[in-house]
Formats: sequence, structure tokens, C-alpha cells
Amino acid sequence: MEYRGLLRAAHYATRLSHAIGEYRYNSRPFSSRPDPRDPMTVDRDSALKQCIETYVDPWLGQTLGEARAVRGVTVEGSRAKVEIGLGFPAADYADELCAALRQQTSTLGWLEHLEVAVSSEIAVHAVQRNLQPLKTIKNVVAVASGKGGVGKSTVAANLAVAWALQGARVGVLDADIYGPSQPRLFGLAGQKPVTRDGKSLQPLTAHGVEVMSIGFLIDEEQPMVWRGPMVTQALTQLLGDTQWSALDYLVVDMPPGTGDTQLTLSQRVPVSGAVIVTTPQDIALIDARKGLRMFEKVAVPVLGVVENMSTHICSRCGHEEHIFGAGGGTELAGQYHVPFLGELPLDLRIRECSDAGQPIVAADPSGPVARAYRDIARRSAARLAASASDQGMAFPRITVEDT
Ligand code: ADP
Repeated sequence: MEYRGLLRAAHYATRLSHAIGEYRYNSRPFSSRPDPRDPMTVDRDSALKQCIETYVDPWLGQTLGEARAVRGVTVEGSRAKVEIGLGFPAADYADELCAALRQQTSTLGWLEHLEVAVSSEIAVHAVQRNLQPLKTIKNVVAVASGKGGVGKSTVAANLAVAWALQGARVGVLDADIYGPSQPRLFGLAGQKPVTRDGKSLQPLTAHGVEVMSIGFLIDEEQPMVWRGPMVTQALTQLLGDTQWSALDYLVVDMPPGTGDTQLTLSQRVPVSGAVIVTTPQDIALIDARKGLRMFEKVAVPVLGVVENMSTHICSRCGHEEHIFGAGGGTELAGQYHVPFLGELPLDLRIRECSDAGQPIVAADPSGPVARAYRDIARRSAARLAASASDQGMAFPRITVEDT
């Protein structure tokens, strides 16, 4: 299929102009006027609010008060309802948080029944100073690595699927132009995106994620001989000329390395945060360090470091070994004062599922490997949630009630 728009000027990147709904902070105002309710209810109300606000959320690394997550508290005798608004997708987390809050409030003595309503409100987070966030995409998250073959694309795909499974609206842009692997990872290899207006492309969808890749448009057998400026132009166009839906997160699978192309991309695409993938090997860590510095240089916050292939689990005997060394990712994160997002084992099933077009988070959602990817996804989204946001652009969605 010929895609006429692909090689046109890159200014389409920020052209989409779908209106994004207004954010309404839905907390019940705690006003300073005299409260008409009886004093006991007022006391209980504020005691409960204070108790909930001091709970330290393990994913945010902040109290719910610091995260301004307590949206409402209602007390009626010995029964109460609290509304919690988290800034990261948390469908699976609601039960755990409810249990933790019941535990936290058990010291109050008078509370017999606590109802907790958890909702997620993904905000638009700040991007590089000289750029504007994209109109229909709240947050672009770059997944990068200093060198190829460390599992960056696999992390990008599983991160996207994990967020989608938690209720977020997610897309993946495969910017790994020299080795686009997202079509295969999502089971979309050989498919072609359609154009409705001859100018823009409809993304393909799999596992609840919208996907666009240069791999859909080129012959996989042909080596890409594009030079740097062409690559950045094609990629910014691919980003802007795709009819993405309103997305909470667009995961960009960056080309590996820290050269000019990567630097230009990280300067041109409005990115809210970057995830660095490395293996524990010294050589990969040296390159990951360069990646960290590159994002620092262009003022993109690094959400954290993922250590892939940390251990090898023998598929016969289950023996676990640190074949590439131990602790490198944690050390790197510590050195640069960025979070360590988690480690993933070198596991045959990850490769098999990826090759079968089923990211392991979708193929085996309750298995330990999926759990590791899901924790990394939650930790990075929570980290983003705790960073500076443009509150004016966010709007609420996803509500899970536990009564
Ligand atoms: P990159 O994007 O860094 O080049 P990929 O994500 O394409 O790396 O991974 C390279 C190869 O390693 C792929 O075949 C992939 O399935 C495999 N792979 C990635 N992570 C793991 C892992 N943790 N365990 C086993 N195989 C993995």
C-alpha cells in the first residue's frame, strides 16, 4: 500500500486537534464555614480523613494526602465512605488498596464498615519546556535502551498491554525503525493500516492497544538505509499522521542507542517520561548510562530503570542463576537517583509468547513473569503520576467500587 503522507513535512506531528474534556477535581470541598452536622460526625469525618491521608501508598512512595488522592469522606454513625482518585491505572489494585485502608483505619475504634471507591484519573504530565503535549495523547512514554537486543521492544509491548489491562487507553508507536518488531509482538505482522482520507493512517489494534509501526509500511526483507534526518522526519510524521484515539499513554519503542537520531527524537517528540531498559552486563550498563544522560540533557524525566534478563531460570530444573551478573540495574538507578522499576528473568516463555504475537502479560496474565511486567508498569505509571502535571488537561475515568 502506498502511504502518500509518509514523507511529507514533519509539522503534522502536533496537528491533531480533538478536544480533550475538562478536568474536574471531584473532591468534596472541606469548607471553613460552620458545619451544620452534629459535632461527633464532624470529628469522625476529619479523624477518618486524616487517617486515610497518612497512608503511604507503596507504588507512589507518597502518602495519599501528598498525592491529593483523597477526594471525599462521608461518615454516617459507624459507617463511612471514602473516595480515592489515583493518577495511574489501577483496576487490579483497588481490592488491595481497600484492604490496606481498612487495616489503616482499624485503629479508629468506632468504624464498623468502610466503603472505598477507587478511581483513576490520568493527568497530562509536563513535557520538554519548548514543546506542547500532543492534543489527543495525554502522555508519551519513551522506552529506550543504550544498545539493541536487551529486550526493549518486549518491555514496551508488555508495558502497553499491562496498562491497557488496568483500564487505560494505550497506543504503541514502533520507532525502532531499523528493526521494527511491534507488528510481530502484537500478532499483526503482514497487516496493513488503512487510510480513510489519503492523508492519515488508522492504527491497528491488538490486545486492547493501538499500534503503529514503520514495519506495516515497508517490506521487512528490505534493509532500511535511511539516514538520520529522514528517520526522524518519518517518525515524527508517523506519530502525527496516525489517527490515534484519545489515549492516556502512547508508548514509543525508541530506536536503540544514544546517537543523533535518538537525541533528535527525544528533542522533537513531547515526552512525559522515559523508561530505560538494560541487562545486568557491564557493557549494556555503560550504554544505559549514556541513555540516562541523554534524557537528562533534553530534560525528559526518567521514570526508572528496568533490568531485563536478570536471572536465568532453567526450564528443566527451575534453578535460578545470575548469568549476566547481579545488581547492575539497581546500582545504575541509585547512581542517577532514579527509581529501579524492577527486574525480569531470562525466560524461554517470554520469547515464545513474543514470537507468537501474544505478549506474556496477555498470554499468561496470572503467571509470575506477567506479574513482574505488571508491577513495572504500575511502578512507572505511579512514578509519572507523582511527577509534575498539567492539571488543566486531565479528566476522570475508570471507577472500581468495593463495598
Ligand atoms: P530490543 O528491542 O532491545 O532489541 P527485543 O525486545 O526485540 O530487544 O528482544 C530481543 C530478543 O530477546 C527477542 O527475541 C525477545 O523475544 C527476547 N527476549 C527479550 N526479553 C527476554 C527475556 N526476559 N527472556 C527471554 N527472551 C527475551
